[in-house]
Amino acid sequence: MKDRPITFSIKTRSQKSRARTAVIKTPHGEIKTPAFIPVGTKSTVKSITPEMLKDLGAEAVLSNTYHLYLQPGPEIIKAHGGLGKIMNWSGPTFTDSGGFQAFSLGVALGKNITKFTSSARPGYDEISLKESGHKAGIENAMIPAKIDEEGVMFRSIIDGSAHYFTPKKSIQIQQDLGADIIFAFDECTSPHEPIEYQKRSLDRTHRWALESLKSHIENTEAFSRQALFGIVQGGRHEDLRKESAKFISELSHDGIEFDGYGIGGSFAKEDMMTAVHWVNSILPENKPRHLLGIGEPSDIIKGVMEGCDTFDCVMPTRNARTGTVFVNDNTDTKDKFAYINLNLKNAKYKDDMGPIEEGCGCYTCKNYTRAYMNHLYKAGEMLGGTLATIHNLYFMVQLMEKVRREIDAGRL
Ligand SMILES: [Zn+2]
Repeated sequence: MKDRPITFSIKTRSQKSRARTAVIKTPHGEIKTPAFIPVGTKSTVKSITPEMLKDLGAEAVLSNTYHLYLQPGPEIIKAHGGLGKIMNWSGPTFTDSGGFQAFSLGVALGKNITKFTSSARPGYDEISLKESGHKAGIENAMIPAKIDEEGVMFRSIIDGSAHYFTPKKSIQIQQDLGADIIFAFDECTSPHEPIEYQKRSLDRTHRWALESLKSHIENTEAFSRQALFGIVQGGRHEDLRKESAKFISELSHDGIEFDGYGIGGSFAKEDMMTAVHWVNSILPENKPRHLLGIGEPSDIIKGVMEGCDTFDCVMPTRNARTGTVFVNDNTDTKDKFAYINLNLKNAKYKDDMGPIEEGCGCYTCKNYTRAYMNHLYKAGEMLGGTLATIHNLYFMVQLMEKVRREIDAGRL
């Protein structure tokens, strides 16, 4: 086995669950796991600088290949020396494969394919489209993406232009973007698709996994500095999930396997942990497991207990921009991770002189009141989103530190 750019060292294995603490060493520093990875979709964690991100304790950033491919284009990022360099972030970086967005912004738009299909709230990408303000693109993106055995044809959300992603293309783009950890190209299906479709799709995802691995190994320079994670799919079906976990964990080319694993899929919320349980009973323990697109604190805790190591999601940062912040709920004596969501736009905070959270060590809580936050949102001042983003990401960092302490102490 050739030297790989990342290593994964397990520190503590829980006796009570599948939880573990570990360290992922990358060429740009360490990630203590379990960890939440903030999302910088378009090579920026919206509304904050990398210095703020570092100060609040975040260790890595995940960006989206789909968005960076469309804008500014991988050649521009490469010319800067890669994703970390262009955004002035010196820590570890991840990029996803673009598969989820190609499908959720193409095929699935209007069919409500999001991470959680049964939830009543608008899906991630529908909100994302509204935020992006690209009207022409939104209309054109409604034209369904076309999947064939080689790849997916989709429309740009920016200008409606047609694009074609194959596994090779996704890997080449991710090599240009240059993140430390990249993902194989996969098809993310809706749980509403019939089993026949899920089977066909899974075969395709498995073939694409091999093509992704081959394409990565072929580029020896990129291969030596970037780790590639394979993605497990299989919808809500136990046999398919297990088959996928087995296939992806055993897949090799020239004796080289994936460096870690992503667990993908669009879930009915109640199905998610069952699927994760099936998958992690098969994936080898000695490599990191990333649960894609999951970031609700209560879901993260469940994912940790099922043996997942890293998580990413836009939710904590998106919520912050719309005025919703996490606050620990210390009145709940049964759940040590209990928290509540506060909406700072609520009129009851307009003269509240306390911080967002009493005792919180973040920059925002040390310096500003709820009344000021309420005013910033009401006045449409952008600082509101920045300050709330700092608080929410600090909350996530603290949550994960607590999770690691609990695992190390044998209590989770
Ligand atoms: Zn705070």
